Amino acid sequence: MKILVTGGAGYIGSHMCAELLRLGHEIVVADNFSNGTQAALDGVKKISGSDFPFYETDIRDENALEKIFYEHKIDCVTHFAGLKAVGKSVSEPLEYYENNLNSTLTLCRTMRKHGVFRMIFSSSAATYSPENSVPLTEDSVLGATNPYGRTKIMCEEILRDLCIAEPRFSVVLLRYFNAVGAHESGLIGDCPRGIPNNLMPFISQTAAGLHSELKIFGNDYNTPDGTCIRDYIHITDLIDGHVCAIEFSAENAGCEVFNLGTGRGISVLEMVDAFDKTNGLKLPRSIAPRRPGDFPEAYASPEKAEKMLKFRAKKSLEDMCRDTWKFQRNVPSEMR
Ligand code: NAD
Ligand code: UDP
Repeated sequence: MKILVTGGAGYIGSHMCAELLRLGHEIVVADNFSNGTQAALDGVKKISGSDFPFYETDIRDENALEKIFYEHKIDCVTHFAGLKAVGKSVSEPLEYYENNLNSTLTLCRTMRKHGVFRMIFSSSAATYSPENSVPLTEDSVLGATNPYGRTKIMCEEILRDLCIAEPRFSVVLLRYFNAVGAHESGLIGDCPRGIPNNLMPFISQTAAGLHSELKIFGNDYNTPDGTCIRDYIHITDLIDGHVCAIEFSAENAGCEVFNLGTGRGISVLEMVDAFDKTNGLKLPRSIAPRRPGDFPEAYASPEKAEKMLKFRAKKSLEDMCRDTWKFQRNVPSEMR
């Protein structure tokens, strides 16, 4: 199959590229490098030992997308391109709505024009209302608390409406929980620009001496150890979920939504302790005030994905900690 990977120079997209090549698929990659890097693409080439067509382009640019679909007979699109920083989406909402909605609209229009009807869309657990009880099922109430999450809800609705209007479309919406870890080679991984907002990159950068200590945002939540609970899923598992979704989309028209998580809640303290233990480290840490907007507990019900996609996460917490640290020690200077 020939698969277009939008956002393929980013964290998740680059792992998708490596896996698709390993499975013998052809890929075409489009990324505007707003957050992705050439180093991630080079990592994919090293891992796979093969080259692939890459278009440095903004996928809101209809002419540029047109060229890609004209030059390649695409069978399926995995659509990762998007802006994802929750905090920035609050301070720059227009940029977020503009990018995440228009990229999806332009992509859908161009797909339809070229008779390409299969898409796997990167949605997020950030679409769920914090009022839900856990575990979160695909039927839990939606209600994002920030513009980023709202762009994902809106994209989901656009894609659902498209599938109703055009029954040839087959779209799989994947609501990711917290993606962590890195490729086992240590050649690609999560390498945020500037100071990371997310826990795992902050932990690994602190271990590498880039920050003086990890601040744990709140230890007075109503959870067993007082720190927030999330569902961390290893990037390799997350990518396996996409491979299952691609297969599912071949057999099922319409629009279907799935959580991609482990179903297991891990607290901030558990994660830091596991990182220390796995890697023989002792991270400097302190307790800081709660981070505004955080909610105590979120983890997935993985049942629907298990039943319908035949997907189940396999990697352990130790795998997540080991692979994150392996990549951090390997980060090429161009990716810092
Ligand atoms: P990332 O920032 O590493 O990758 C996104 C890529 O898209 C980047 O390389 C960026 O340069 C590119 N991009 C953005 N806008 C573009 C545009 N208009 N045209 C072309 N390229 C564009 O992020 P990621 O962690 O790999 O996330 C991938 C997708 O998954 C995003 O849509 C994100 O919202 C979603 N997601 C991620 C997580 C997570 O834990 N990382 C969780 C839930 C959802
Ligand atoms: N967190 C923390 N210190 C950090 C970064 C994050 O204590 O430097 C906590 C954060 O408050 C949350 C959890 O780690 O409870 C996961 O945060 P992240 O931003 O990675 O994911 P999200 O909250 O968006 O699910």
